[in-house]
Amino acid sequence: MKIHDVAVIGGGSAGAMAVLRVVLNNDECLFFPGSPKDKKRSRAFWVSKVENMPGHLDYKKGIEEPNRESFDWLAAGPFKEKFIWKKNTGVVSISKGDNGIFTITDNKNETYQARFVILCTGVMDVQPTIQGSIEPIYPYANIQLADYCLRCDGHHVLNKKIAVLGHNSAAAWVAIMLYERYQCPEVTIVTNGEVPSFDEETSALIKRYNFKVETNAITEIKGDPKNKILEAFVCGTNTVNAEFAFIALGMIVYNELAKMLNANLDQRGFVTTDNKGKSSVEGLYIAGDLRANTKKQIYTAWDCAVDSADDINILIRRKKRIDTSLL
Ligand SMILES: Cc1cc2nc3c(=O)[nH]c(=O)nc-3n(C[C@H](O)[C@H](O)[C@H](O)COP(=O)(O)OP(=O)(O)OC[C@H]3O[C@@H](n4cnc5c(N)ncnc54)[C@H](O)[C@@H]3O)c2cc1C
Repeated sequence: MKIHDVAVIGGGSAGAMAVLRVVLNNDECLFFPGSPKDKKRSRAFWVSKVENMPGHLDYKKGIEEPNRESFDWLAAGPFKEKFIWKKNTGVVSISKGDNGIFTITDNKNETYQARFVILCTGVMDVQPTIQGSIEPIYPYANIQLADYCLRCDGHHVLNKKIAVLGHNSAAAWVAIMLYERYQCPEVTIVTNGEVPSFDEETSALIKRYNFKVETNAITEIKGDPKNKILEAFVCGTNTVNAEFAFIALGMIVYNELAKMLNANLDQRGFVTTDNKGKSSVEGLYIAGDLRANTKKQIYTAWDCAVDSADDINILIRRKKRIDTSLL
């Protein structure tokens, strides 16, 4: 079976940049962007307008559209032989042999081999459950009246009444930062039936800034998503006024493939690496949101991916220097 130089798994921000860098380094890249199911559960799929990065304002889907432009360009350009694009294909299992080679099986039951892997399967934000379902928040999330990421979308709340959905100190910090930055006239932390667990520092600030804490479960969202209006969260007999909501419930980490390889994880399930993205498994690199201790942002995902692809290229060139017949 052919052994490819590098397999890139995941086609969001990190995966796209990893593919670009590997191919433009003139290394061979086997690329699995994910099955339709993988894509739908990725952050890349849900990102619409990107406002916190230059040059992205015209894209309606700020990750998928520019990525697609780059993939199409690679597939048609001078490096096309080095770009093996397994469209709509996800990886279901991965192992590493005693010879150091990775064996990868996709969702169509095809098997491939690669010397290096850059894993970019990302994370997903936990959604609030309302009356037993996560569906009710989607109409508001889709029009960005409910957001997840402070750095990406925090600026949307300028002078707005807000609800922050969450129950721990991390959620309290989201509320505090939004209030301090954007002067929100009314801030409520909605724990959606959970018992609040704020530490001393956040408890003091919640009191000082007069935030309300609503502990009843949400029973209804009031608003008119078609006209881009959010009005309130109804929590039993109480109504929380909110023109904007922030969801601060944590993340689901897509670390299944890393676990199959026994890579080291941190307490939250992110894969720990060195500053080039090298995991505890030789040859396995991690880029993007899946990597521990990174900002969960597009530009961070890009930077991680470039570091990993370049580090792999150093190793490939070093090997070629020894085996001069390959140069
Ligand atoms: C609503 C929202 C808005 C955001 N807005 C911004 C913003 O404005 N600016 C900003 O900088 N950041 C923003 N972010 C954060 C940004 O989306 C992430 O930081 C970025 O997408 C991380 O890139 P990634 O490649 O690690 O993961 P993702 O982009 O989520 O990509 C994961 C990829 O892995 C693939 N995959 C998963 N499992 C498999 C598998 N088994 N096999 C193959 N492929 C698989 C998926 O198909 C997907 O292609 C936003 C996030 C959200 C949720």
